[in-house]
Amino acid sequence: MSAPSPRPWILDLEEYISGESVLAGYAKPIKLSANEGALGPSPKALAAYLDAAQSMHRYPVGSHAHLRQAIATVQGLDAARIICGVGSDEIIGFLCRAYVGPGDEVVYSDHGFRMYPIAAAAVGGVPVAAREVNLTASVDDLLSVVTARTRIVFIANPNNPTGTYLTKDEVLRLRKSLPASVLLVLDEAYAEFVTTDDYASGLKLVDACDDNVVVTRTFSKIYGLGGIRLGWGYCPAPVAKVLNRIRDPFNVSVPALAAGQAAVEDVAFVETCRAHNQTWRAIMAEKIAALGFELTPSACNFNLVRFPTDAKRNAAAADSYLRGRGIIVRAMGSYGLNEWLRMTVGTEAENTLLIQALTDFVATWE
Ligand SMILES: *Cc1c(COP(=O)(O)O)cnc(C)c1O
Repeated sequence: MSAPSPRPWILDLEEYISGESVLAGYAKPIKLSANEGALGPSPKALAAYLDAAQSMHRYPVGSHAHLRQAIATVQGLDAARIICGVGSDEIIGFLCRAYVGPGDEVVYSDHGFRMYPIAAAAVGGVPVAAREVNLTASVDDLLSVVTARTRIVFIANPNNPTGTYLTKDEVLRLRKSLPASVLLVLDEAYAEFVTTDDYASGLKLVDACDDNVVVTRTFSKIYGLGGIRLGWGYCPAPVAKVLNRIRDPFNVSVPALAAGQAAVEDVAFVETCRAHNQTWRAIMAEKIAALGFELTPSACNFNLVRFPTDAKRNAAAADSYLRGRGIIVRAMGSYGLNEWLRMTVGTEAENTLLIQALTDFVATWE
């Protein structure tokens, strides 16, 4: 008798390694490893979540109509073309299931978000990484790996873990240079944190293009709702129709729908979070650079910091030193960035402790 066997490509799948959250000896470690919003959820989202518990015996609204309308109103979008998912990771998975088959190619930039190659490979697709320039996606390099088998190009804009982004003009050039049949997916998990003028969200591009641009957004970052697993995508009408066919009718839970709607509508809280991040991302970058470390120019809610290569001063040594101080940051080995650590912007108190710990780490070198 032979055992049931999965599709051949499944056993080759790489596991996604998430930011760690547990540290021996610390009941409440300082977790700066997963880019969760520093200020947590809006109090209104928390209240809506608790209130929704009263209806947990009911199935959720399968159309997500209220949440979609709230997003559409705040963002100025067509509610009919918003798709909600269990995190934007689910939307990324839907897109691969719907548009990628065995042998089809999915293009992403070398240090792009790891979920793209994983979601592509999960449906038998072939992930194709394009070179970057200065840890930034490069339109020319992306275009150079596109073939007749390319189905989707995924760009996190701005990107995790590099923090860098493609300008509005470069995104436009990429779209115009790609074959019309290739879907361009702009993952904008960090769009709310960007504060530079040469950046633009792709939401307008979805309407301006020929049914071949999708934008994904998440509640896990600026909204501080990573634990409820909620994300959304803005799609051309034909794509929305396709994704609605493959998603489970009740994919998003009752409390997630309620908390998400309250979070979107609490525009003032989002603005507070954005301002906090803008202030502290800059302060942290300046202080970390003053200690002698190289950083990428981050548009997100984290900094990516490079360490020397010798055993006493390298990223692994820094990581373990920080853990000894109760601070968890993100090692970057799974991205091939062994010399780097990614550090989420935290609260003022957390940021201050991180800088103190890094200062003390540097002092151990003498
Ligand atoms: C965090 C993150 C997401 C969000 O994933 P969710 O499933 O919505 O929690 C998506 N893309 C990138 C690049 C991210 O860093």
